[in-house]
Amino acid sequence: MNIAKVVVDVPATQTNRVFDYKIPSKFQGSIHKGMRVIVPFGPRKIMGFVLDLVNESEFDRLKEISDLMDVTPVLTEELLDLGEWLSEETLSFYISSFQAMLPQVLKAKYKKELHCLSSDEIPVEFKTLFAGRDFITYDEFVEREGNHAKLQKAIRDGLIEVIYQVQSRETIKKQSVIRLNKEAHLIEEALEDLSKQAAKQRQLLHYLLEHSKPINQKTLLKKVNTTRASLKPLLDQGLLLESFEEVYREPYEKGKYPRTSPLPLTNQQEEAIQPILNALENEEHHVFLLHGVTGSGKTEVYLQSIQEVIEKGQEAIVLVPEIALTPQMVERFKGRFGSEVAVLHSALSAGEKYDEWRKIQRKQVKVVVGARSAIFAPFENVGIIIIDEEHETSYKQEDHPRYHARDVAIYRGEKHRCPVVLGSATPTLESFARAKKGVYHLLSMGNRMNNATMPTVDLVDMREELHKGNRTMFSIRLKEAMEERLKKGEQIVLFLNRRGYSTFVMCRDCGYVIECPHCDIALTYHRKNERLKCHYCAYEEKMPSMCPECESDTIRYFGTGTQKVEEALAELLPEARVIRMDVDTTRRKGSHERLLTQFARKEADILLGTQMIAKGLDFGNVTLVGVLAADSLLHLPDFRASEKTFQLLTQVSGRAGRHALPGEVVVQTYTPEHYSVQLASQYDYEQFFSEEMKLRKSFQYPPYYFLTLITVSHVNQVKVMEVTRTIVQLLQKHLSQQTRILGPTPSPLTRVKDRYRFQCMVKYKNEPNQRKIIKKILTYFESDIQKNDLLIQVDLQPYQLM
Ligand code: ADP
Ligand code: ZN
Ligand code: ZN
Repeated sequence: MNIAKVVVDVPATQTNRVFDYKIPSKFQGSIHKGMRVIVPFGPRKIMGFVLDLVNESEFDRLKEISDLMDVTPVLTEELLDLGEWLSEETLSFYISSFQAMLPQVLKAKYKKELHCLSSDEIPVEFKTLFAGRDFITYDEFVEREGNHAKLQKAIRDGLIEVIYQVQSRETIKKQSVIRLNKEAHLIEEALEDLSKQAAKQRQLLHYLLEHSKPINQKTLLKKVNTTRASLKPLLDQGLLLESFEEVYREPYEKGKYPRTSPLPLTNQQEEAIQPILNALENEEHHVFLLHGVTGSGKTEVYLQSIQEVIEKGQEAIVLVPEIALTPQMVERFKGRFGSEVAVLHSALSAGEKYDEWRKIQRKQVKVVVGARSAIFAPFENVGIIIIDEEHETSYKQEDHPRYHARDVAIYRGEKHRCPVVLGSATPTLESFARAKKGVYHLLSMGNRMNNATMPTVDLVDMREELHKGNRTMFSIRLKEAMEERLKKGEQIVLFLNRRGYSTFVMCRDCGYVIECPHCDIALTYHRKNERLKCHYCAYEEKMPSMCPECESDTIRYFGTGTQKVEEALAELLPEARVIRMDVDTTRRKGSHERLLTQFARKEADILLGTQMIAKGLDFGNVTLVGVLAADSLLHLPDFRASEKTFQLLTQVSGRAGRHALPGEVVVQTYTPEHYSVQLASQYDYEQFFSEEMKLRKSFQYPPYYFLTLITVSHVNQVKVMEVTRTIVQLLQKHLSQQTRILGPTPSPLTRVKDRYRFQCMVKYKNEPNQRKIIKKILTYFESDIQKNDLLIQVDLQPYQLM
């Protein structure tokens, strides 16, 4: 095999294929599939992934591979195949898919260095620039405003060479380890020869003789209470040897988690786990949808399934949403499987993530628990894939490649012939519909552990509060409930939803929200020209001065922030101790954990926060959950608004009364009659599912129809409109008759960073050629994309409709 097929790091349509490179004799036998190499590409040297090794090429005069980036493959053959599939599925470049599977550290950008080859001959200005050094960084050259034309000439003349430093600096953390370099009797002889003044040197040697084990330099110096200065002569004489050995950064200290053992399963859990265990035993791929109410004990079902997988000598991948990956969550897995568990979490430093990833790569762990990208864990013998809270939208990546972790899980599950378990109290409509059709295998757990009751939910009609003259953001009911908890020393969780931004217009008097007559979603308020727009179709109208329903003039757009609530709370209940948790207070590393620990230690009465407090929290002393504005999600310009509201209200309610004390939930809303608010308060998922499915059917949304969202952006508004219009025309011409194409219309975020955004949406049942057609369209605009900074984003099965 002397030819490598390489995908190069140039994300562009023409280069989205394999290139053949000759393997120079010095690398013969040391290049394998899944390794990264440095190859010449045009005038540059760039990185590439080796996909295959062959003996013949249809091209002659191949260029040679310049260098290796990896000693062993970073991607397994399964992941190479997965990457190709992912690119086809999501219409992204191969290189983007491969990069997406690797930890950040391995994606580091190249650093360019300018190396001086002949210090005598280089022009004077370079002499001052180099100032006697062998090389300088390209950045320094740019900073000091070096002349590019002259640089290019010097390179052509062979006086300066550009070197791409692709190896990232922060890769493996190493520590200095000291050991004896001679046999004990020789060391003792040396001790005799040491001068009297070298007391510290003697102590060092004595210490090492006594312990006769290699020791970390820092520890050694501390033990002997000395510095590197006394170590140095011993190293120089060859009595001691210093080596640099790899250490893993341990974000989750060993032994921190008390071991737990499997709990005897309840009947309900037993019934749910049996089909999973059968699939494991028969090595069959099935997708299970574990629909279990909050507190039904889903995690124990996961843990015992994983146990079985480990006993079979296989590996497990567990995905949990980023915000649910709390220390509490990690503890449940580490507590059961100890050091067999790697954790991939975005709050880890790049180095820590890299270490966790390498534990997986080296098969030093059996289980990975992580957010979305953990689905690419380089295990080779996967026995089960679990996705907890499968309805979470964070499983969809909103950047290249726009994949959904669920699809990747099912693809890998098929390859490994292993079960995939999707768990949720509120499954997506897509998944539940599939389970009903028998595509997925439905497992239900309808009761809480120990038959604990679900907390009662009180719906408070905020319109009535207004009529009673209460203009604050707290209803009388919620205020009284809070006062009662404060008296009893019980705790309160207050939830304010602020996902995205709230720009819908609502009448405070009657709760009426202005919607698009064609799309059944709230219209978006545009402050600049006082108009309401639908961002699915092009419908728009004037902002009304009074409510079309009840003629009240209290119609306005909606939205409050957590900070405002905190201030209002301080006025209402000055004695209450409040912890506020939102993006602002949790920006710093570790602050999330610190605030939760404070709350767990009862150092505060009220935890006030956004969606980050809705999930996974389990505090026994919380007996009241207040939802301040249930409506702010309900009217997002998103056809999933009702579904998201239902999910969120269910999740938030699940935070109360999880243990001995019974819980209560107060939901403040302007639309208590809305079916998703009503049914969430009754915990009636099935009924919600059937109501919502009816609407999805009549407005032609998923799961009845598939969607493709195409977003175009550019600094020039006219250009954006024209390109989008052309795309719509091309789609209309080439897609089938039944397919609907909506748009062009301005995106809800019409201008981002001075770029205008327009979009169009494809609604279809069956379009086998869609990807091919879109690829052609992208090729058609290729030169604009490359040269004119035009951006066309294609999102198949979008979740973010902004
Ligand atoms: P879910 O993930 O479905 O919301 P959890 O897994 O958090 O539910 O379970 C709720 C509580 O029940 C947890 O405190 C858990 O330790 C406990 N639990 C789960 N299974 C059992 C069991 N078989 N026996 C006793 N307690 C259990
Ligand atoms: Zn009204
Ligand atoms: Zn519309």
